[in-house]
Amino acid sequence: MFSRHVTRNVTGQFQRFQSTLLIAEHNNENLLPITQNALTAAKKIGGEISVLIAGTKCGPAAEQLAKAEGLSKVLVAESDSFKGFTAENIAALIVAAQNQFKYTHIIAGASSFGKTLLPRVAAKLDVSPISDVIGIKSADTFIRSIYAGNAIQTLQATDPVKILSVRGTSFEASQLGSGSAAVEKLPSDGCDTQLTSFISQELSKSDRPELTSAKVVVSGGRGLKSGDNFKLLYDLADKLNAAVGASRAAVDAGYVPNDLQVGQTGKIVAPDLYIAVGISGAIQHLAGMKDSKTIVAINKDPDAPIFQVADFGLVADLFKAVPEMTQKL
Ligand SMILES: Cc1cc2nc3c(=O)[nH]c(=O)nc-3n(C[C@H](O)[C@H](O)[C@H](O)COP(=O)(O)OP(=O)(O)OC[C@H]3O[C@@H](n4cnc5c(N)ncnc54)[C@H](O)[C@@H]3O)c2cc1C
Repeated sequence: MFSRHVTRNVTGQFQRFQSTLLIAEHNNENLLPITQNALTAAKKIGGEISVLIAGTKCGPAAEQLAKAEGLSKVLVAESDSFKGFTAENIAALIVAAQNQFKYTHIIAGASSFGKTLLPRVAAKLDVSPISDVIGIKSADTFIRSIYAGNAIQTLQATDPVKILSVRGTSFEASQLGSGSAAVEKLPSDGCDTQLTSFISQELSKSDRPELTSAKVVVSGGRGLKSGDNFKLLYDLADKLNAAVGASRAAVDAGYVPNDLQVGQTGKIVAPDLYIAVGISGAIQHLAGMKDSKTIVAINKDPDAPIFQVADFGLVADLFKAVPEMTQKL
């Protein structure tokens, strides 16, 4: 007798059905958009998709999720040990779910949440995690970005369970529609690892759109020369209903907080319009924004590498060009 994941295909060989566990990212009240991007990636793998949602009181987020089309199950685990979404405890939950249901794929967004979680799960299951996936060719062949986006790798994974973090900007968001997936409770016994405890968090509030989901982003670099001068970019952003981002050099110099950083070690964005102001275009910065649909660069150096990826370039002193642009809008 075979388990429900095993069948005989037309050539008479045994094969496992694809069954994916998608790890939802949410804040208990609402799903975070990357979950819908990761769901699209999960659908490309094929087979059954279950979603795991772990939190404290995550009923509202689970209800939103159950409306997604193409899900067979929403597994809900609620416990105080998931307060703050600490990776240690949620990893223990995922490993327990994997031992019970034997998924062929475990998938999450390549966000800070997914990036801290999945390597732990992979280590516990003794397989290699596959990070930063930007394309799915088949159930075992994936395209990923390596060397800060300077090379694209196609890899075939042979591990029995494939653990993938997927880049949100590479997959359209799956719509939450008229789906009605079954919602099941998952026990969370044994998930309080006592390795970390959540103390508090402070969320920065802004009236501007969120950086990773904004349609327009205005980013500043070291060329701005001070934090005060970022006001030029905030004024422009307000006219365009844009989010403000920054290069790492601007963050390291203390001009702006590090949650604004775009790039390899910052946020990955792909807005309709990205305006890079006083940014040279180092590969680590490009890794975070080169998938933007239209890129505009303002730089006084005509040889700045940013012009190689820009659709429109303006060789100019930003201190003149930006106020002029803002005034004309
Ligand atoms: C492991 C690693 C990870 C990294 N991760 C990131 C990352 O996530 N994101 C990131 O951004 N960087 C990252 N970096 C740093 C990266 O290599 C660059 O140092 C950084 O991106 C440079 O920032 P910048 O373009 O603002 O500064 P600079 O390279 O100093 O460029 C400033 C630009 O401003 C222009 N300029 C100056 N004055 C004016 C003016 N008045 N008008 C118009 N233009 C002007 C100059 O011509 C110049 O091109 C990383 C580096 C490493 C090693």
